[in-house]
Amino acid sequence: MTPLTIKHLAAKASFASIVIAGVLMSASSAYAADSDRDGLPDEWELAGRYGSIDLRGNGVRVGRPDVILFVGREPGLAADTPREQLARLKRFFSEVPTRNSDGSSGINLVIIDRGEMPRDIGGLPYTDPRTREWTIPLEWRGYAHGYFLANGTGGGGSSPVCSDWGGSGYGWQLVAHELGHQLGLGHEAFGDSKPSPLYASLMNYTLDVHNLRFIKLLKS
Ligand SMILES: [Zn+2]
Repeated sequence: MTPLTIKHLAAKASFASIVIAGVLMSASSAYAADSDRDGLPDEWELAGRYGSIDLRGNGVRVGRPDVILFVGREPGLAADTPREQLARLKRFFSEVPTRNSDGSSGINLVIIDRGEMPRDIGGLPYTDPRTREWTIPLEWRGYAHGYFLANGTGGGGSSPVCSDWGGSGYGWQLVAHELGHQLGLGHEAFGDSKPSPLYASLMNYTLDVHNLRFIKLLKS
Protein backbone atom coordinates (compact mmCIF):
# COMPACT_ATOMS: atom_id res chain seq x y z
CA MET A 1 0.00 0.00 0.00
CA THR A 2 1.40 3.38 -0.95
CA PRO A 3 1.52 6.00 1.77
CA LEU A 4 -1.01 8.79 1.48
CA THR A 5 0.46 11.94 0.02
CA ILE A 6 -1.00 15.42 -0.13
CA LYS A 7 -1.90 14.59 -3.73
CA HIS A 8 -3.85 11.48 -2.66
CA LEU A 9 -5.65 13.44 0.05
CA ALA A 10 -6.56 16.16 -2.43
CA ALA A 11 -7.85 13.54 -4.85
CA LYS A 12 -9.89 11.89 -2.06
CA ALA A 13 -11.27 15.24 -0.95
CA SER A 14 -12.34 16.20 -4.45
CA PHE A 15 -13.90 12.76 -4.94
CA ALA A 16 -15.82 13.25 -1.68
CA SER A 17 -17.02 16.65 -2.80
CA ILE A 18 -18.21 15.15 -6.09
CA VAL A 19 -20.13 12.46 -4.16
CA ILE A 20 -21.67 15.07 -1.85
CA ALA A 21 -22.59 17.24 -4.83
CA GLY A 22 -24.11 14.18 -6.48
CA VAL A 23 -26.20 13.37 -3.39
CA LEU A 24 -27.35 16.98 -3.14
CA MET A 25 -28.23 17.01 -6.83
CA SER A 26 -30.23 13.80 -6.64
CA ALA A 27 -31.98 15.09 -3.52
CA SER A 28 -32.95 18.29 -5.27
CA SER A 29 -34.00 16.51 -8.46
CA ALA A 30 -36.11 14.11 -6.35
CA TYR A 31 -37.81 17.18 -4.92
CA ALA A 32 -38.60 18.52 -8.38
CA ALA A 33 -39.31 15.11 -9.96
CA ASP A 34 -41.26 15.36 -13.18
CA SER A 35 -41.73 11.77 -14.33
CA ASP A 36 -44.02 12.60 -17.27
CA ARG A 37 -41.62 15.38 -18.31
CA ASP A 38 -44.34 17.97 -18.91
CA GLY A 39 -42.67 20.71 -16.88
CA LEU A 40 -45.10 20.34 -13.96
CA PRO A 41 -43.52 18.87 -10.80
CA ASP A 42 -45.01 15.49 -9.76
CA GLU A 43 -45.54 17.02 -6.33
CA TRP A 44 -48.12 19.46 -7.71
CA GLU A 45 -49.79 16.82 -9.85
CA LEU A 46 -50.06 14.46 -6.88
CA ALA A 47 -51.36 17.24 -4.60
CA GLY A 48 -54.05 17.90 -7.21
CA ARG A 49 -53.90 21.66 -6.80
CA TYR A 50 -51.42 24.47 -7.34
CA GLY A 51 -52.15 28.11 -6.70
CA SER A 52 -55.78 28.72 -7.53
CA ILE A 53 -55.98 25.87 -10.05
CA ASP A 54 -57.77 22.58 -9.37
CA LEU A 55 -55.42 20.20 -11.15
CA ARG A 56 -57.16 16.95 -10.20
CA GLY A 57 -60.53 18.26 -11.34
CA ASN A 58 -58.93 19.07 -14.70
CA GLY A 59 -57.63 15.55 -15.14
CA VAL A 60 -53.97 16.41 -14.41
CA ARG A 61 -52.02 13.32 -13.37
CA VAL A 62 -48.54 11.88 -13.29
CA GLY A 63 -47.83 9.66 -16.29
CA ARG A 64 -49.44 11.74 -19.03
CA PRO A 65 -48.25 15.18 -20.20
CA ASP A 66 -50.41 18.11 -19.15
CA VAL A 67 -50.27 21.60 -20.64
CA ILE A 68 -51.85 24.42 -18.63
CA LEU A 69 -53.10 27.26 -20.82
CA PHE A 70 -54.40 30.50 -19.33
CA VAL A 71 -56.63 32.42 -21.70
CA GLY A 72 -57.41 36.12 -21.53
CA ARG A 73 -60.30 37.27 -23.71
CA GLU A 74 -60.30 40.50 -25.69
CA PRO A 75 -62.97 42.92 -24.44
CA GLY A 76 -66.26 42.09 -26.15
CA LEU A 77 -65.50 38.37 -26.59
CA ALA A 78 -68.08 36.56 -24.46
CA ALA A 79 -67.10 33.29 -22.76
CA ASP A 80 -69.64 31.33 -24.84
CA THR A 81 -68.41 32.49 -28.27
CA PRO A 82 -65.12 30.52 -28.43
CA ARG A 83 -66.36 27.59 -26.28
CA GLU A 84 -66.85 25.12 -29.14
CA GLN A 85 -63.52 26.01 -30.77
CA LEU A 86 -61.67 25.61 -27.48
CA ALA A 87 -63.33 22.23 -26.91
CA ARG A 88 -62.13 21.16 -30.38
CA LEU A 89 -58.63 22.43 -29.53
CA LYS A 90 -58.63 20.35 -26.34
CA ARG A 91 -59.71 17.29 -28.31
CA PHE A 92 -56.96 17.89 -30.88
CA PHE A 93 -54.33 17.77 -28.14
CA SER A 94 -55.91 14.66 -26.58
CA GLU A 95 -55.60 12.92 -29.96
CA VAL A 96 -51.90 13.70 -30.50
CA PRO A 97 -50.31 10.24 -30.79
CA THR A 98 -47.85 10.51 -27.91
CA ARG A 99 -46.77 7.37 -26.09
CA ASN A 100 -47.08 8.25 -22.44
CA SER A 101 -45.37 6.53 -19.52
CA ASP A 102 -48.70 5.33 -18.06
CA GLY A 103 -49.61 3.61 -21.32
CA SER A 104 -52.05 6.31 -22.43
CA SER A 105 -51.68 8.59 -25.44
CA GLY A 106 -52.39 12.26 -26.01
CA ILE A 107 -51.78 15.49 -24.18
CA ASN A 108 -54.18 16.87 -21.56
CA LEU A 109 -54.64 20.52 -22.49
CA VAL A 110 -56.14 22.36 -19.52
CA ILE A 111 -57.72 25.61 -20.65
CA ILE A 112 -58.27 28.11 -17.86
CA ASP A 113 -60.50 31.02 -18.83
CA ARG A 114 -59.26 34.11 -17.00
CA GLY A 115 -62.15 36.18 -18.24
CA GLU A 116 -62.50 39.31 -20.31
CA MET A 117 -59.55 41.67 -20.01
CA PRO A 118 -60.28 45.19 -18.82
CA ARG A 119 -60.25 47.71 -21.67
CA ASP A 120 -56.93 49.32 -20.70
CA ILE A 121 -55.21 45.90 -20.99
CA GLY A 122 -57.31 44.16 -23.64
CA GLY A 123 -56.99 47.15 -25.97
CA LEU A 124 -53.23 46.58 -26.19
CA PRO A 125 -51.67 44.30 -28.83
CA TYR A 126 -50.92 40.77 -27.57
CA THR A 127 -47.22 41.53 -27.92
CA ASP A 128 -47.49 44.01 -25.03
CA PRO A 129 -46.18 42.20 -21.90
CA ARG A 130 -49.02 43.66 -19.80
CA THR A 131 -51.50 41.38 -21.58
CA ARG A 132 -49.39 38.36 -20.53
CA GLU A 133 -49.02 39.60 -16.98
CA TRP A 134 -52.77 40.07 -16.64
CA THR A 135 -53.50 36.57 -17.93
CA ILE A 136 -50.87 34.26 -16.41
CA PRO A 137 -50.93 34.27 -12.58
CA LEU A 138 -47.55 35.06 -11.03
CA GLU A 139 -47.13 31.62 -9.40
CA TRP A 140 -47.74 29.89 -12.73
CA ARG A 141 -45.25 31.84 -14.82
CA GLY A 142 -42.53 29.54 -16.07
CA TYR A 143 -44.86 26.51 -15.81
CA ALA A 144 -47.98 27.41 -17.78
CA HIS A 145 -48.72 28.89 -21.19
CA GLY A 146 -50.88 31.88 -21.95
CA TYR A 147 -53.01 33.20 -24.78
CA PHE A 148 -54.66 36.44 -25.85
CA LEU A 149 -57.90 35.30 -27.46
CA ALA A 150 -59.04 37.96 -29.90
CA ASN A 151 -62.64 38.66 -30.79
CA GLY A 152 -62.63 37.28 -34.31
CA THR A 153 -61.06 34.65 -36.48
CA GLY A 154 -58.01 36.60 -37.62
CA GLY A 155 -54.47 35.36 -37.44
CA GLY A 156 -52.01 36.14 -34.71
CA GLY A 157 -48.60 35.10 -33.64
CA SER A 158 -46.21 34.22 -30.89
CA SER A 159 -44.67 36.75 -28.59
CA PRO A 160 -41.23 37.79 -29.84
CA VAL A 161 -39.98 38.04 -26.24
CA CYS A 162 -41.82 35.33 -24.24
CA SER A 163 -42.10 31.80 -25.60
CA ASP A 164 -45.04 31.06 -23.30
CA TRP A 165 -47.30 33.72 -24.84
CA GLY A 166 -49.16 34.38 -28.07
CA GLY A 167 -52.45 35.52 -29.46
CA SER A 168 -54.92 35.20 -32.34
CA GLY A 169 -58.57 34.82 -33.18
CA TYR A 170 -60.30 31.88 -31.53
CA GLY A 171 -60.32 29.40 -34.44
CA TRP A 172 -58.97 26.17 -32.98
CA GLN A 173 -56.44 25.57 -35.79
CA LEU A 174 -54.97 29.05 -35.27
CA VAL A 175 -54.56 28.53 -31.55
CA ALA A 176 -53.14 25.03 -32.09
CA HIS A 177 -50.59 26.45 -34.56
CA GLU A 178 -49.44 29.20 -32.19
CA LEU A 179 -49.34 26.76 -29.27
CA GLY A 180 -47.18 24.55 -31.48
CA HIS A 181 -44.66 27.40 -31.60
CA GLN A 182 -44.83 27.73 -27.80
CA LEU A 183 -44.04 24.01 -27.55
CA GLY A 184 -41.00 24.38 -29.79
CA LEU A 185 -42.32 23.53 -33.26
CA GLY A 186 -41.38 25.50 -36.37
CA HIS A 187 -42.98 25.75 -39.78
CA GLU A 188 -40.76 23.06 -41.26
CA ALA A 189 -40.35 19.41 -40.36
CA PHE A 190 -37.45 18.56 -38.05
CA GLY A 191 -34.26 18.53 -40.05
CA ASP A 192 -35.75 20.44 -42.98
CA SER A 193 -34.49 23.94 -43.67
CA LYS A 194 -37.03 24.53 -46.44
CA PRO A 195 -40.81 24.12 -46.50
CA SER A 196 -42.02 20.75 -47.68
CA PRO A 197 -45.48 20.27 -49.20
CA LEU A 198 -45.42 16.75 -47.76
CA TYR A 199 -45.02 17.71 -44.10
CA ALA A 200 -48.52 17.01 -42.80
CA SER A 201 -48.73 19.48 -39.96
CA LEU A 202 -50.76 22.44 -38.79
CA MET A 203 -47.40 24.19 -38.55
CA ASN A 204 -46.82 23.95 -42.30
CA TYR A 205 -47.86 26.84 -44.54
CA THR A 206 -47.12 24.88 -47.71
CA LEU A 207 -48.92 21.62 -46.95
CA ASP A 208 -50.34 20.42 -50.23
CA VAL A 209 -53.63 18.87 -49.25
CA HIS A 210 -54.24 17.54 -52.77
CA ASN A 211 -50.85 15.87 -52.97
CA LEU A 212 -51.40 14.38 -49.55
CA ARG A 213 -54.74 12.95 -50.66
CA PHE A 214 -53.05 11.61 -53.79
CA ILE A 215 -50.36 9.87 -51.74
CA LYS A 216 -52.99 8.38 -49.43
CA LEU A 217 -54.89 7.03 -52.44
CA LEU A 218 -51.72 5.41 -53.79
CA LYS A 219 -51.05 3.77 -50.45
CA SER A 220 -54.57 2.44 -49.89
ZN1 LIG B 1 -46.34 30.04 -37.30
